[in-house]
Amino acid sequence: MTTYKSVQRLIKPSDAATWISCIRRVWLDKHQIGDFEVDAFNQLLMDTGLEHEAAILAKLQSQYAVHKANSFDHTQELMQQGVAVIYQARLINEEEGLIGYPDFLIRHESGQYQSADAKLSQSEHKKSIQIQLGLYRRILDNELPAIIFLGDGRTAILGEETNPLVDEFILSMKELLNMPQQPAVRYSHSKCRICPYYVHCRPEFEENEDLSLLYGVHGSAARHLAEANISTITQFANSTAETIPDVPYLKGPKKKHRAILQAKSFLTSEVFQLNKVELPEGTWVHFDIEDNPLTPSRTRHVYLWGFLPPPYNSDNFEAIWTDDETQDYQGWLNFLEKMNVYRTQYAPLILAHYSNHERATIKKYAERYDMQSHTTVQWLLGNDSPLFDMQKPVLNNLVLPLQGYGLKDICKHPQLVNFQWENEESGAQWSVVQFSRFLDETDAHKKHQLKSEILGYNRDDVTATRKLEEWLRHHFM
Ligand code: SF4
Repeated sequence: MTTYKSVQRLIKPSDAATWISCIRRVWLDKHQIGDFEVDAFNQLLMDTGLEHEAAILAKLQSQYAVHKANSFDHTQELMQQGVAVIYQARLINEEEGLIGYPDFLIRHESGQYQSADAKLSQSEHKKSIQIQLGLYRRILDNELPAIIFLGDGRTAILGEETNPLVDEFILSMKELLNMPQQPAVRYSHSKCRICPYYVHCRPEFEENEDLSLLYGVHGSAARHLAEANISTITQFANSTAETIPDVPYLKGPKKKHRAILQAKSFLTSEVFQLNKVELPEGTWVHFDIEDNPLTPSRTRHVYLWGFLPPPYNSDNFEAIWTDDETQDYQGWLNFLEKMNVYRTQYAPLILAHYSNHERATIKKYAERYDMQSHTTVQWLLGNDSPLFDMQKPVLNNLVLPLQGYGLKDICKHPQLVNFQWENEESGAQWSVVQFSRFLDETDAHKKHQLKSEILGYNRDDVTATRKLEEWLRHHFM
């Protein structure tokens, strides 16, 4: 009988996503260092995934007799019986150290079984999906391709093209399982700050003054720099662009100069100004959207288009809100209408946002509703666009004592903009979780409360970009 402990040390398809993200994380998982609760956003993702799986199950049940497996042995029995579909199958190859739980095993006309998974993803090309499905094929040990029921309603197949990736994954995982010590890795701000092992790993990076702690210095660049005997932030800060060799992700004097200043800023908290900040002339309206990627159709739904027009008090906050995905088109039309009002009221209008997300979303909505030639859309996305991405003047002109240049990184920093959100826990993922609760809530009072909280968060976001504008004008123009 397979024990829990030994199952933990077997290689399973769900290790693939972690392995791609960070090999230390998978080592820590396998060695059961720590026990973490799933956060609300990831729980929502899991719940949405289960809903998708249930919908696929219902579809299969309408066509075939579906049998639920309750153990590895039961799965084998059902396969020997030749049942049409096995739900929640359990596969194991103890010799190879592989284990897998495909959502479904579907009997092929040849009598063999094909593994099938329901995935929220809209693409079968994701590396983690290729490995997961490839691993099921490896355990089943037949030539049939694996099936994926994707989040956008498509069904895709993955066959032997996944073999090289699966080989690489298995080999690397076996090495990791045999490693007595956690593997050496570099810091990655995007991955580490949301990783449950952050507290475990961070002190070591800091103690070593690891170069990958610097914004703009990729882990691979840090590895190559160490080979050239530049391994600490102090060493790097004391270098010149001429003495630093060209390494992957860090080539040319401009990038190197910026990275050196980033190292100095990391050590001293000093702010460096590369050039004078230039901001466009006009009447500024601050703009930010909240959107839900977990809709039943998997089409992102903007539930809130938020604005802060002059004179920029919290009372001036304006929002276009839609209760659910069925109002998506109306919300989009209301947004375009609001743009026309602002265009007349505040000419010339500057619609300030942070990062490319707002512009990209407008483009996607125009495509979704086939409105690329609509006059307002053409104005919003054309050469005289009022849209202004405030991340650009920051990245182009300033080096800040930060590891990431997100809006919250800059605004929350006490020595920079020093603007604090009313709800400390709020964020883009928090907003999606609250909106999901809003959708499910039947009590009118609680629903109203959830809506107010989301609106409050968005109001803080647009207030933050206003505070950032003021900070830039005051210090760097
Ligand atoms: S904190 Fe970073 S380095 Fe440590 S396990 Fe997580 S992702 Fe890997």
